[in-house]
Parts: sequence; C-alpha cells; structure tokens
Amino acid sequence: MSSGYTWVAAQYDETAKAKKDVISSNSLELTGQHVLVVGLGKSGRSAIDFCRRQGATVSVSDSSATKSADNEWLTTMGVDSEFGGHSREFCLRADLIFLSPGVPHDLPLFQEAQQKGIPVIGELALAPRYLKTPVIAVTGTNGKTTVTTLIGELMKAAGFQVFVGGNIGTPLTEYLMGRQEADWLVLEVSSFQLDAAGGFRPDIGLLLNISPDHLDRYANLEEYALAKLNLFARQHHCDVSIINQDDPDSVRLTAGMKSLRPGWTARRCLFFGKQINGRNGAEITGNTVRLKGDWLSDADDSYELKETALSQSPNLENAAAAIVAARAAGCKPADIKQGLSTFQPLNHRMTLAAEINGVRYINDSKATNIGAVQAALQGISAPVVLIAGGRDKGGDYRLMAEEVRTKVKAMLLIGEAKKLMASVFSPMTRVEELTSMAEAVQRAHELAVPGDVVLLSPACASFDMFSGYVERGQIFTELALGLQG
Ligand code: ADP
Repeated sequence: MSSGYTWVAAQYDETAKAKKDVISSNSLELTGQHVLVVGLGKSGRSAIDFCRRQGATVSVSDSSATKSADNEWLTTMGVDSEFGGHSREFCLRADLIFLSPGVPHDLPLFQEAQQKGIPVIGELALAPRYLKTPVIAVTGTNGKTTVTTLIGELMKAAGFQVFVGGNIGTPLTEYLMGRQEADWLVLEVSSFQLDAAGGFRPDIGLLLNISPDHLDRYANLEEYALAKLNLFARQHHCDVSIINQDDPDSVRLTAGMKSLRPGWTARRCLFFGKQINGRNGAEITGNTVRLKGDWLSDADDSYELKETALSQSPNLENAAAAIVAARAAGCKPADIKQGLSTFQPLNHRMTLAAEINGVRYINDSKATNIGAVQAALQGISAPVVLIAGGRDKGGDYRLMAEEVRTKVKAMLLIGEAKKLMASVFSPMTRVEELTSMAEAVQRAHELAVPGDVVLLSPACASFDMFSGYVERGQIFTELALGLQG
C-alpha cells in the first residue's frame, strides 16, 4: 500500500461518484423491468424468484457449459436462458443486470452495460428499497464467516431474533421474500458483493482487516481495498463503523477516507485491537477484551476468553470485533458472556484434526490467502511443519517471510503454485515439493517430532486438486487420523 491513503481516498471518491451516477438504488424499480440474472447458483436462483415476484421479466445467463436437466424449471417458468458464457446480444437487452456474488462486476461486458445506462447490481443493492430490518454487515479479507456467525450467536444469546446470511448460508433475497421478522440481519459481505452494492448502507459496518487477496481478480491491492471501503460509503451520521486498530491498512484507508470526505468523521467509529489509544471500542490484553469509551453505560464491560474456544489469535481478535458489534446493537454484557462461552469455531479454520505421538495436526484449509496463513502461524508457538500450495491467487508470498523464518521448520508444497512458492521460501526454510496430500501428510509425519505442529494452511485456492476447501480439509483430516493406525 505504498501509494498511501490519500491516493486511495481520492480514487474512492471518484469510484463512489461514478457508481452513484449509474445506480440510484433507492429508486430501484423491478416491476415491469427485464432483469438479467447472471449466475445460476443458490443466490441466482433466489434472485430469479424474487424478481419474478416483483413483477419483472427474468432471463438468466450462466457460464457453465450446458443447461442440465435440473434446470428445466427455467423453461417451465418462462425464464429465457443462455449457458456456456455471457453473450453480448443476450445480456445487453436487459433493463437491469443482477450479478450473483461470485461474478466480477468489471467484466468488459458489464462495463459496457453500465456505459449504456443499464444498472449492474448485486443483492445488497436491493436493501435500500426492499429491506425493513437493521443490518450489521461484516467484511474483511479474513475472519468474515467466523465473526458473522459469532455475532449471530451473541445476538441470539441476548434474545434477539436474527437472520444470518449474505455471502454465507441463505441469500439476502430469500429473507426479502419472507415476512422480514428478524430484529437484526447479520450479513457477511464480500468485496465482489460490495462492488455491486449500489446504495447499500449497513447500520453497523465492520471491517475486519485488509490484506492481499483475489489479486487474480483485482488489478492491485488498492482496487481490492476500495471495494471493501464501499461498506462505509453511504453510512449516515447515526451509523456505526467498526475498524481494526491493529491493521495498519484498515486504519490508514479509513483515515484517508475521512480526510477527503469530512462527513464521514461524523459517523460513530469504534475500534478493536491490542492498543486502541484512548479511542472508543475494545482493547485486548492477554485473553481479556475490555470495552472502553463514553459510548458505554455498564461499568463492568470486560470479557475473559481464556476458558472459551476463542482464546487464541486470530479468534481473540474476532471475538473483540464481534463483542463491539453486539454491544453497539444493544446486547447486554451478561448475554454476550453466555454466547462467548458456548461458541464453537467453524470447521477447517485452525481445527485440531488429530494428535499423534505428541504432534498436533491442525486443519486450516480455509486459509486461502497469505494473511490467513500469517495469522495462523502467529497464533502457534511450537515449531511448524507447514503443508501449503494449490492454485495461486496472485499475492506476494514474501509478505509471510518473517512468520516462515521464525516458525516453519519445514514446508511441504503441493499443487500448481508449488514451484513459485518453492522459489520464494527455499532460502528461508527446508522446502520439499510433493505430488499429493497423501504424500505431504506422510512426509510431515516423518519430519515432525513430539511438540511440533503439522499445519495445513495453504495460502492458495484448492480448485486445482479438490472440489473446494472443505474437501481439501476433509482429506487432510482423514489422512492425519489414518496415521494413528
Ligand atoms: P472468511 O469468511 O473471511 O474467509 P473465515 O472465518 O472463514 O473467514 O476464516 C478464513 C481463514 O482465515 C481461516 O484460515 C482462519 O483461520 C483465518 N482467520 C480467521 N479470522 C482471521 C483474522 N481475524 N485474521 C486473519 N486470519 C483469520
């Protein structure tokens, strides 16, 4: 982020203005419109249903090669479709284009559509017009699913009725079609969703961290960071922005936004981190999260996490972020403590898979970028045999050099990125290239001694060898458990 925040903030202003010119979501009208839904996954299917109920004519464009028998319902319902890519003729005849969360908004075709005045939106852009429930929205490079789920649990412990969804679980349109009975929505939002968020404005927005990711999809880190900052772009003076004080990029970027967008300073900013320097928010000392500042009424606002499943970094930071959000939404400390004590971290994220002869095998398959691996290594004090590699996402592996030098006694590399990674890490530690997860686990077993940790934390996507991070983590776990026999 060498260009500093001023450049980013200026760029951010222009981007926001350009988007506002194209999409005015408050006046988003679907009735009588021809809506093209791009992508026929869970969100796309829900969007088709939603748009039809609003009285729109819907067509769908999907990149998968052919229309399978499962999709015959499209014809029955009169939904025109194209498969095998997004053609110009098919797409540009729509009045509005609705992107599924995984579809990048800046494909040339969608840029052309915007230039022609066809709004290109995602499900978040529907919120200003159709959503009646207040929103807590969570974004960041890593920790989104954990924190979104945790906030949901804390809110439930406090007696609120919550809908948890967005990028995880249930699409937002699903909720919009129902009776909207929740007290709060807790949404995980990705950078792709924020790119096409139109007038979306969370009552509480939480930016967990920014580190290099998806650089195969964004031109550079600045562009990726700009998408994340869309979270705060339209917040009102009464809304809350929660920022990670320990993450220099998050602090610098949001501070930069403030300097060029004076109104933004009027928003209520809360911070979390190891030292929040007298600001309002949550400070972490050891295993304790202590809330500080004049926004609180309760005298005892501290949370001891030592005996909970959230006692280690990065879940300690995730807990601090979730506590701030839950308190800002009106949860009481006693209820939050109850929710923290029962929360179980999600699978494939620093999950203990097996312990064999004093060696712990940890499954962190969801670590698909460098920042997640850094966090994993920072949270482990024992020597680590690291299994990494997979499909490269364009990040700079040198960013994790310090953690590798100080923590990793051997690195076992698999997948498409192994040569590239070996060229970076060979000068820092022992590196071996292997051809399968089975070979990697077997080799880790040979190299590790009692007290060591064998960590699967790949820093890469999984799709070159597996159907996804879940399968990758399951195979690692089965292999590790198999070592016992
Ligand atoms: P996301 O939904 O953003 O991908 P997850 O909660 O699924 O986040 O975690 C993804 C990966 O990031 C896991 O490897 C996890 O161990 C790691 N992780 C979780 N929280 C953080 C954090 N605050 N900072 C860095 N890495 C984290």
